[in-house]
Amino acid sequence: MNIIKRDISEKRAEQLKGRIKDYLFIKEKIDKGLERKKEIEERKKIILNVLKGTEKDWNDYNWQLKNRIITVDVLDKIIKLSEEEKENLTTISKKYRWGISPYYLSLVNFSKRYGPIRLMSIPLYNEIEDHHGMLDPMSEEYTNPAGCITRRYPDRLIINVTNECAMYCRFCQRRRNIGQKDKAKSKEIIDESIQYISENKEIRDVLITGGDALTLSDDFIEYIIRKVREIKHVEIIRIGTRTPVTLPQRITKELCNMLKKYHPIYINTHFNHPMEVTEDAKKACERLADAGIPLGNQAVLLNGVNNNPDVMKCLNQELLKCRVKPYYIFHAKNIKGTTHFCTSIEDGLKIMDSLRGFTSGMAIPTYIINAPKGKGKVPLSSNNIVEKGDGYVVIKTWEGDHIKIKNYDTINIKQIK
Ligand SMILES: *Cc1c(COP(=O)(O)O)cnc(C)c1O
Ligand code: SF4
Repeated sequence: MNIIKRDISEKRAEQLKGRIKDYLFIKEKIDKGLERKKEIEERKKIILNVLKGTEKDWNDYNWQLKNRIITVDVLDKIIKLSEEEKENLTTISKKYRWGISPYYLSLVNFSKRYGPIRLMSIPLYNEIEDHHGMLDPMSEEYTNPAGCITRRYPDRLIINVTNECAMYCRFCQRRRNIGQKDKAKSKEIIDESIQYISENKEIRDVLITGGDALTLSDDFIEYIIRKVREIKHVEIIRIGTRTPVTLPQRITKELCNMLKKYHPIYINTHFNHPMEVTEDAKKACERLADAGIPLGNQAVLLNGVNNNPDVMKCLNQELLKCRVKPYYIFHAKNIKGTTHFCTSIEDGLKIMDSLRGFTSGMAIPTYIINAPKGKGKVPLSSNNIVEKGDGYVVIKTWEGDHIKIKNYDTINIKQIK
C-alpha cells in the first residue's frame, strides 16, 4: 500500500481510539449484571433465608410469584429500612400496589438509597405527592373498539390479556390497569377480542401484552395464541413481557417448545439498566432465541436509572450479547405517581446522538414519544440536515462535521435512454 495512504489511515485510527477512550473508562464503573454474580448470589442467600426457601424453590417461577415481597415487614428483614422509610412505605402501600420478585430483589444494592434497581422496584414517597401526573394521558380508554383491544394503527393492535406482572415496576406506564388484585381477562373478553381481529381483515400483526402476558399459564397463553394463529390474515404475533428481566425462571423449556409451534412469533422484552442483564436473564433470552423467536427490547427513559448516554450505550451492548436487539426507547409519560422518573427530551436526544457512529448500528433503538390521545408513536431525533439549498444539502456527521453534498432531483426512470 501507498505509504501516504497508510499513514493517513493510521492517524485516523488513532483519532477513532480517542473517540472511545472516555466511554471505556466509565463503562468499567457501570454496574453490569453479568459481572456482579457474586453480590447477587450473596443477596440471594439472605433472601432465601428470610423466606425460608431452597435453591430449588428459587428456580421455580411459581415459588417466585407466590413469594413476591409485598409487605414492609419482610422487605425490612431483607434490606433493613429506616423508621422513616418504613412509615412512608406503609402509607404508600395504602394507595399503590407494590410487589417485588425475590429474584429481582437480589439485584438491588441494599445500601444504595437511590440505586437504579431499587428506584425501579421499591416505592418512594414521591409517588403519593405527585400532583402533576395524569391517570390516562394516552386516553387508552378511547381506543378500545372491542374486548380488551387497544387499536391505534391501521394494520396492528394490542390485546391486553392480564393485569398481572411478576413485579410492579415503580415507573409503570400502565399503572392505571395494575389493580390491587391480579386479574387475567376472562375467556369471554379474550374471545370477543379475537372475534374482532377475525372480522377485520386488515389486521396482520397482533401484540399480546398486559400487564405481563407471560404471567398467564402456558395453557391459557396457548389458547390465545392458537386462536389468533387460526385467523388467516394474521401474519405475525408479538408478545410483550418483562419476565426475562423480573422473573427469568418463567422462560421454561416447556414454554419455549409451546411457543415455537406458532411461528412467526416475536418477543419484545423490557430491560432498562445493564444491571438487569444477568446470567439468568441471559439464559432466558437465549432459550427464547434458540426457539427461533427474534427478541427486541423496549426500554423506558427513566430519571436516575438510565438517562445517561454511557449507561444506555452499555445496556444496548449488553443486550446484543444476549441476542436481544434494542428496538425502542420510550420517553416517559406523565403518569400519576411516576413523574419523578420523567426526563427532558434533551436527555433522550443526547443519548441518541451518543450512540450513532460511536457504537454498532445494531445497538441503536428508535427514540419514541407517544402522542397524547392515542395518536401513536412519534420518533424523535436531532436533525442531521443542517442546511438545504438549490441542488445541495449540508449534513452533520456523527462526529459533528458539516459536509455539503449534491442533492439530485429524482428523474422518471422511463426517460432514461
Ligand atoms: C406500540 C403499539 C403498537 C406497536 O407499534 P410498533 O411501532 O409496530 O411496534 C401497536 N398498537 C398499539 C396500540 C401500540 O401502542
Ligand atoms: S412489567 Fe410492565 S406492565 Fe408490569 S408493572 Fe412493570 S412496566 Fe408495568
